[in-house]
Amino acid sequence: MRRRSRKAKILATLGPATENRDMVAALYQAGADAFRLNFSHGDHAGKEAVYRIIRETEKDALHPVTVVADLQGPKLRVGAFKGGKIELTQGAIFRVDLKKSKGSAERVALPHPEIFAALQPGMDLLLDDGRIRLRVAKCGKDFAETEVMIGGTLSDNKGVNLPGAVLPLAALTAKDRRDLAFAVNLGVDWLALSFVQRPEDIAEARKLAGPNVAIMAKIEKPAAVERFDEILELADGIMVARGDLGVELAPEQVPSIQKQIVRAGRRAGKPVVVATQMLDSMVRAPEPTRAEASDVATAVYDGGDAVMLSAETAVGAYPVETVDIMHRIIDRVEQDPLHREFLDAARTPPSPTAADALSAAAHQVAHTIGASAILTYTQSGATALRAARERPEMPVLVLTPNLAMARRLGLVWGLRCIHGDDARDFDDMVERACRAARFRGYAETGGRVVMIAGVPFGTPGATNLLHIAYIPPFDDRRHADRPVIGDE
Ligand code: PEP
Repeated sequence: MRRRSRKAKILATLGPATENRDMVAALYQAGADAFRLNFSHGDHAGKEAVYRIIRETEKDALHPVTVVADLQGPKLRVGAFKGGKIELTQGAIFRVDLKKSKGSAERVALPHPEIFAALQPGMDLLLDDGRIRLRVAKCGKDFAETEVMIGGTLSDNKGVNLPGAVLPLAALTAKDRRDLAFAVNLGVDWLALSFVQRPEDIAEARKLAGPNVAIMAKIEKPAAVERFDEILELADGIMVARGDLGVELAPEQVPSIQKQIVRAGRRAGKPVVVATQMLDSMVRAPEPTRAEASDVATAVYDGGDAVMLSAETAVGAYPVETVDIMHRIIDRVEQDPLHREFLDAARTPPSPTAADALSAAAHQVAHTIGASAILTYTQSGATALRAARERPEMPVLVLTPNLAMARRLGLVWGLRCIHGDDARDFDDMVERACRAARFRGYAETGGRVVMIAGVPFGTPGATNLLHIAYIPPFDDRRHADRPVIGDE
């Protein structure tokens, strides 16, 4: 079995370029650990088909694979054009309004009355991720006449941002609610919420989603940055959604916000995904720019849990190559002694809990005796998250009878999850852990591993045991932890 030793994970968005069995398998083989289904595009039948393909790939891989459903959120968009697109030239007058008809070079629909209620002359509308800038000259409750400040091609349904304006928009649109129910029913592991503005947005989604799916807050609004600590407290994970964030805020504000979020996520023991434009030029080219390679490396040096690919794998011409290069960049950074120095320098002390005390101790013991892996037994995932927070140099193997948890944790820094039967008792746990480590290439016969768990088993939050185990000689692979996925 090929061993994945990389700590930072790769989250790849699927789209028209990759929504088929061969491509999903190829992306997984190239290094994708998790897949994102983007509910801004496509229909439920298409999403279900792709979800099934991912689960088939998971079965073949004998390894849990993480699925993130990304809800569109209250994204503002212009309508469609008669010919699909128009050219806007600097200085031209262009109108946006509430009329439903298809657009032309003179006007386009902007079907959001909230925008017109908030507009004032002199305000800017940013279109297509900020590539086009319109300045409002005149406006009323159902139209605005604008001057094109920065022109370009504008095609159907492109996004609109109003930097600085707080619009009275619900966190979850009617479409989001339908998509949420569908995605939860399908069995996705994470729900990513777009355009979160308040902590209440997370609470609302959690109430609708129930306990079987984790919630990831996408930070892409200035309001979310302002209330980040409260949002982090309620969410299970965070995405630094730099695309919209870089439009809503000045681009120079994004790097330090990214670093602060990555650090805060680690402190809280919650995964952070750094997203958008990481290897953007590879949508069209087989090689990234040097700046892009450096951007991926920066997120890894900072200790981010996962790096994300969007258009690169959804619609790009080189999706497999992009994952392969991302994998190689991460691998190289993680071999650099400076990477370890940075992670150690950003270490936050353990909280006064048994799980943190034992996670810190396991790291220390594993380091001192040269153990090749830390193993955690977990039902709730809590022990594994705290162990990952330590950012140990050795891999953290997570053994869990909870398949949903094994999948969910696949996005977390350094965790390698194995789904198997629950251990009967302490001896059975040690035996299973040693087998798993040995047969999955994380330990050699005679080598040592450090284990943390809670006994009695099945008591969530009862991490109370640290054990050093020697890997005994196993004469065969019988009873190796059941590498069967998706058999619930
Ligand atoms: C982003 O804006 O960076 C982002 C990830 O959101 P989306 O791709 O869904 O627009």
